[in-house]
Formats: sequence, structure tokens, C-alpha cells
Amino acid sequence: MILVEQALEKILSNVSVLEPERKPILETLGQVLAEDVRSDINIPPLDNSAMDGYAVQWESIRGATTSQPKALKVIGEVAAGYISDREVTPGTAIRIMTGAPVPAGADTVIQFEDTDEEIRKAAAKSLDEIGILREVAKGSNIRRGGEDITRGSLVLARGVVLRPQEIGILASLGRANVLVIRRPAVAVLATGDELVDVGEPLPPGKIYNSNAYTIASQVRRYGGIPHILGIATDESQDLVEKITLGMDSDLLITSGGVSMGDYDIVKDVLAELGAISFWTVRMKPGKPLAFGVLTRNGRRVPHLGFPGNPVSSMIAFEQFARPAILKMLGKNNLAKPTISAISESRIENRDGRRVFARAIVRKGDGQYFARLTGPQGSGILTSMSRANALLVVPENVATVEVGDEVSVQMLDWREED
Ligand code: AMP
Ligand code: MG
Repeated sequence: MILVEQALEKILSNVSVLEPERKPILETLGQVLAEDVRSDINIPPLDNSAMDGYAVQWESIRGATTSQPKALKVIGEVAAGYISDREVTPGTAIRIMTGAPVPAGADTVIQFEDTDEEIRKAAAKSLDEIGILREVAKGSNIRRGGEDITRGSLVLARGVVLRPQEIGILASLGRANVLVIRRPAVAVLATGDELVDVGEPLPPGKIYNSNAYTIASQVRRYGGIPHILGIATDESQDLVEKITLGMDSDLLITSGGVSMGDYDIVKDVLAELGAISFWTVRMKPGKPLAFGVLTRNGRRVPHLGFPGNPVSSMIAFEQFARPAILKMLGKNNLAKPTISAISESRIENRDGRRVFARAIVRKGDGQYFARLTGPQGSGILTSMSRANALLVVPENVATVEVGDEVSVQMLDWREED
């Protein structure tokens, strides 16, 4: 038996970061930037107003109070997107809107609320003149050109994961396209004579192929592009044909046919197509695991073979396929988000394996609590559906008692409703 870490290390050493591709920025959410992005403009490009108000010279409003307002002559108005051709001089003001470039001569903006504009409007008085009711600090309400981003600076470094805010920054630099590490294409193949595809009638003795859909959805969730190859029967010819269809992908994932009692077809076929190892991983569920590298026409395609049991397959995916996909995407943090929680369940670990138990994590009293979702059979997919986390029992812990602190891998951050 090998440790989870040993299996993972072997898998990751056979998986490489993929090449960069240039894509429209809107299509890059969650991808890793493959170039250093510098700015060739200042953002904002010019000093501009942070408020709707009046652009003035600070000297003109010095000492202004409600009881002794400073009256200024309004010589124009400027809206966002336009540059005023007037210059602010002592005793004058230009009405200015948020985002409008500060006119020449002005060094301060007074917001409407600090003027008598409303009073004048209510009294139907002329707005050719404005009363300033308060002295503000010199330079108030002006956003400086380049205060966000200065021309020539490194704005986003290679390796950054693009979130909505980074995509917004790229847009604010005027970039339509950007270089990112491409997403891996992941071929998914279910094996088993008992399997029938969704949408078909279910003959006696058969079951629907759920794994292909679960796995494909996991692939998509973690940033890969899934491609379901269909169902291969437990007959070698069919398996070879279906696997061949997956040879132009970056990763092949099969489910089923790797356990002891199996027809051993997957093993034989894969051994024919490339190097393959079968491991008994010290984990539960998901003990049998196949990993190999298929070779054809000079292409090397890593292959992960998961057990057919739906829960085993999902958990093996989380532990092994997820980090492989993240590595191909160029991500640095491959570890599953893990927290500490207090166990509300008693768990026995009889054979010294690492147990990944389906659990519900909830927050209470400034702490997280985790309890099992019920029956833990590896065929019971609804136990995954009820779970938001995997409670991890280490190999060397025989019993987790209620109240023990445990490590929990979060499947998602949604708390129990
Ligand atoms: P195997 O690993 O092929 O021995 O399969 C183990 C168990 O998982 C058996 O009960 C299979 O019927 C079931 N199983 C295998 N493949 C799938 C699949 N694609 N969808 C749902 N259940 C499956
Ligand atoms: Mg099978």
C-alpha cells in the first residue's frame, strides 16, 4: 500500500503546466496569467473630480463658512468625458461632475453639499454665482492622474489567477486579449458491461452511468474542459477503441475496472497502450487506483483510473485529479481548502487507512463542527450530496471521538442551511 502523498507525487511528476494561449479577456476567468501585464497609460489618465461639485482655487474659498460664504463666479460646467476649455482663476469656479478632468487653474473641488446651490435653486436664484459654505483642505475631492496605476508599472504579474477584479483591470488598461495558460482537455470514460447511458431505458441488471457525469462536472468545476467518451464494455477491443478516442486530450480519466475482482481488462489494455501502475492507496474509500502514461504518435497522455463506486471515484478525483488539473492550469496552490473542526461523530478507522468521511460542516460559537452525513457506503452517492466536506481521519488514528479536533477538506463553503 502507498500513501496518498506518494500516489499524488507520482501523478504530479508526470503532469506539466500547459502552454499559454491568447484569449479574449472575458473568457479567461479563473485562468492563470501567462504574461507580465504592464500599463502604457496612467489610470486615471488625468486629475479628475471625485465628487459632483465646483472646481476652485483653494485661495478663493479660504475662510468660507455657512454664515460667511465665499461667493464665486461660475464660468462654466464640465462633465465626465470632456475637457473644459476654461481656466479657473481667483474668484471663479467651474461646475464639475464626478470623473470629469479638473480644469486648468483649479486645485480643489467643493462638493455640492458644501455650496448654496440647493438654496439658490429653491429660491429660483441665478446659478451664475455660487456660495461656498465651508473651507475644505486644499486638494480635496481630486483623484490624481496615475493614482491607481502609473504608466510603465507592472500591474499584474505572470502567475496571477484571474478573478473578476483582474479582468476589470485588464479592461481598464484597454486590453482585449491576454495570454493565459490554456485549460486542459480531459477525456472521461466509464467502463462496465452493466452501464447504460442516461436517456435510455434501463434493462434488468443494468445501472445508469453516473460516474461519467460526476467526473465531467468535477473536471469543469476545477477548470478543465471535459469530454465524455461514452461507455466501454468490459471487452478489450471496445476499451481500446474508446481509449484511443481520448488520445488527443491532456488527461484521460476512466472509472471502473481497477479493483481486484475485476475482469482485469482495463489493466491488460492499458499495459498494452503505455506504462501503467496499479496502486493500492492507503485511503478509504478509493483504495485501488491506476495511473499511467499512454503514448501514441509521440503524445503522452496521463491516465487516471478510478474505482467504479461513485463515491470512491469522486473522492479519488478530489485527491488526485483535482491537483493534476490545477497543475496543468499553472496554479500554485494545489491543496484542497482545509479547516479544523470539532467532530460531532464517532468514527472508527480499523485498518490504518486515511479515511475521507462525508461530513457536514457548520459554524457555531466561533468554531466549526463536523458530523457525518449518515451511511458511508462507497456506492451511496447521496451521502456526497448531503456533504459539504470530507472529514479526514489520519492513518494512525484508530478512533475519532465526539469532541476531537479533526481536519476537514471543504468540498464547498456553503454551510448547512
Ligand atoms: P468496478 O470498479 O468496475 O468494480 O465497479 C465498482 C462498482 O461501481 C460496481 O457496483 C459498479 O456497478 C459501479 N460502477 C462502475 N462504473 C460506474 C458508473 N460509471 N456509474 C455508476 N456506477 C458505476
Ligand atoms: Mg466494472
